[in-house]
Amino acid sequence: MIVRDDKNPPKPKTPSKALESEERIVSPAEPNANAFENKLRPTTLEEYVGQKKLKENLKISIEASKKRDEPLEHVLLHGPPGLGKTTLASIISREMNVNIKITSGPALEKQGDLAAIISNLNDGDVLFIDEIHRIRSVVEEILYTAMEDYGIDIVLGKGTSASSMRINLPRFTLIGATTKTSLLSSPLRDRFGHNYKLNFYTIDEITSIILRSAKILNTKINPDAAIAIANCARQTPRIANRLLKRVRDFADYHDVSCIDVAMVAKAFNSLGIDDIGLDTTDRKILKDIIVKFGGGPVGLNTISAATSEEESTIEDIYEPFLIKLGMLERTPRGRIATPNAYVHLGLEQKSLL
Ligand code: ADP
Repeated sequence: MIVRDDKNPPKPKTPSKALESEERIVSPAEPNANAFENKLRPTTLEEYVGQKKLKENLKISIEASKKRDEPLEHVLLHGPPGLGKTTLASIISREMNVNIKITSGPALEKQGDLAAIISNLNDGDVLFIDEIHRIRSVVEEILYTAMEDYGIDIVLGKGTSASSMRINLPRFTLIGATTKTSLLSSPLRDRFGHNYKLNFYTIDEITSIILRSAKILNTKINPDAAIAIANCARQTPRIANRLLKRVRDFADYHDVSCIDVAMVAKAFNSLGIDDIGLDTTDRKILKDIIVKFGGGPVGLNTISAATSEEESTIEDIYEPFLIKLGMLERTPRGRIATPNAYVHLGLEQKSLL
């Protein structure tokens, strides 16, 4: 089980199977939260870039709860990996002046695991459950009364002699994070007072995240170079920071004191990242669909066999961005490469001949 106090460095989250093999730089997945990432986490709502509407609403709710001396209502954060859900949960606990415990859905194996964590919280503390859609149903059951009444009913004995006993819990705020809201049961979803969707970031926002990170890392970078990195960061802060880190390595290696556009281009060229942020696997997926399967439609399992990537990895990690760029379509008959993909890869579309 993963439980941490915010003051201690976080242990790696339990990655989903789809993410275990993930080592790509342009992957939004978090195979292992590291010191580098934690160093760059904003600690206040002011520092947290973008998500303007969400921050405004959250600020009002936080201030109102503090005035009433009540814990914040339970918060559900949903959105793709790397957009700042964990960071936001930590910020909420700081703004509420309470501690945060972090765990994840799959790490809670038994009801007792959850009961033990909540019982050890102080009044008003935050419990952050990452990947809450992966929580076991038997554990989820006790979460309902814990969230609603700050209590857990324990059944003692069996059959006719069975009785139930209520354990009172401290008042706490549950912050659940999920990349897949559709997998959340409605009784669980309904118990969150706040339901916030995190959006992809604009190029301007990603650029300011890169400039902020560079400052923290004591790395000099031209604004143009920051924009060049932002253009390839898939609108995702985690990827932006990771790309900055790699470019910084190249700059240090070449004894370049200030990162410029040429340095970014050199680094990206070496890393196989193209001008819109696609890496070799993204391009292989599109190219295989076009060259081997006539542009599609082709089934996910066939693409998986052709590219030697797991189906779930293709579906969760690669496809969302390709779809967002309008290069790939998911249809009931399979995946189709769109005209944009042909243009990007410099291939001719047969049907147009
Ligand atoms: P998630 O939990 O959604 O996968 P994280 O909260 O772990 O994402 O964020 C990944 C990284 O991106 C963190 O290191 C953090 O520094 C950075 N980050 C995320 N959102 C923001 C933001 N709004 N402003 C600045 N940095 C951010």
